[in-house]
Amino acid sequence: MNANETPRAPEARRAWARIDLDALRANVAALRAKAPTAAFMAVVKADAYGHGMVPCARAALEAGAQWLGAATPEEALALRAAGLGGRMLCWLWTPGGPWQDCVEADIDVTVSARWALAEVADAARRANRPARVQLKIDAGLGRNGAQPAEWPDLVRAARQAERDGLITVTGVWAHFSCADEPGHPSIARELAVFRTAVAQAEDAGLEPEVRHIANSPGTLTLPEAHYDLVRPGVAMYGISPVPQTAGPEDFGLRPVMTLAARLASVKQVPGGHGVSYGHHYVTPGATTLALVPLGYADGVPRHASGAGPVLVAGKLRTVAGRVAMDQFVVDLGGDLASPGDEAVLFGPGDGGEPTAEDWARACGTIAYEIVTRIGARVPRVYAGAR
Ligand SMILES: *Cc1c(COP(=O)(O)O)cnc(C)c1O
Repeated sequence: MNANETPRAPEARRAWARIDLDALRANVAALRAKAPTAAFMAVVKADAYGHGMVPCARAALEAGAQWLGAATPEEALALRAAGLGGRMLCWLWTPGGPWQDCVEADIDVTVSARWALAEVADAARRANRPARVQLKIDAGLGRNGAQPAEWPDLVRAARQAERDGLITVTGVWAHFSCADEPGHPSIARELAVFRTAVAQAEDAGLEPEVRHIANSPGTLTLPEAHYDLVRPGVAMYGISPVPQTAGPEDFGLRPVMTLAARLASVKQVPGGHGVSYGHHYVTPGATTLALVPLGYADGVPRHASGAGPVLVAGKLRTVAGRVAMDQFVVDLGGDLASPGDEAVLFGPGDGGEPTAEDWARACGTIAYEIVTRIGARVPRVYAGAR
């Protein structure tokens, strides 16, 4: 139950995102079977890609994940505050962050530069215990991570901080740029940079417990990238990380989120009636309009105007006219429906409803963004909680 929503009978909800935790656990099992010798880090950043961080993290641990992965230290600290155990890693370092809190909460932190190493050493001194640090190399993505030219200096300094009792280097890792495009030449290049970085770290005397580079596409399509640990995110939520090549079912994955709402209005209008702001849709003849009470404030992209698919009254329809902040309209043609009937925007797809991938195609984006942006005003309703 979301803080913005008073508890209410299911049949009286405006809208909801149903989160199928059984599907999430089965997806974790399917992914673990692809990388049987690697440890499993469930990536639950960004509120578990919009699915709800704490329930999804708990379900992933129940399904055998040993690690939880978060972007920010605040996310990792929130997981600990919710009582979640297991190993945890966060990776988006900013100056002055709550690093001492992370050290005290047994959260591994990621360091890509000498200045961050100095900050984590300070945090360890204040906490009066060594920090668990993972070092990140920029194997080619060009975001965080030490450049290969800076890496030997970083690993030497990290080894010295270990000798000084300030840190323990628990991991060495990198992130792919184009693993979602199987066969992309950058994949072999980045693996080679990573191999060299691992060797240099070991030559400097570091003994990282985990070496890792595989995100969802790496886990599913690149066995040579599994190393000691895999870090799938989107695939755990049942979304294919390589949608050009394969759907989730090809990997034995099932979408976890279903987004639905109850019609707020159903009415007859004459032909030639404009629909929603700007009148970008005009009824071609006398028809029935149904109002879906979800809009861009709920994460339904405005780019879905005139394009997003919705299952209403047993058929696939298309958003008529513009998506507004709180609502959009569908034209039911001659079909009947009643206020309170369900409209399904996306789900697993086996009930005739669209999928998040269908929405991504209709809106010119990726399914990651469709699920992650579902707003706080939409309550998450969990099925399969233990
Ligand atoms: C988000 C993220 C992942 C998971 O990526 P997916 O493509 O969703 O599997 C893994 N590692 C890092 C560093 C990330 O930021």
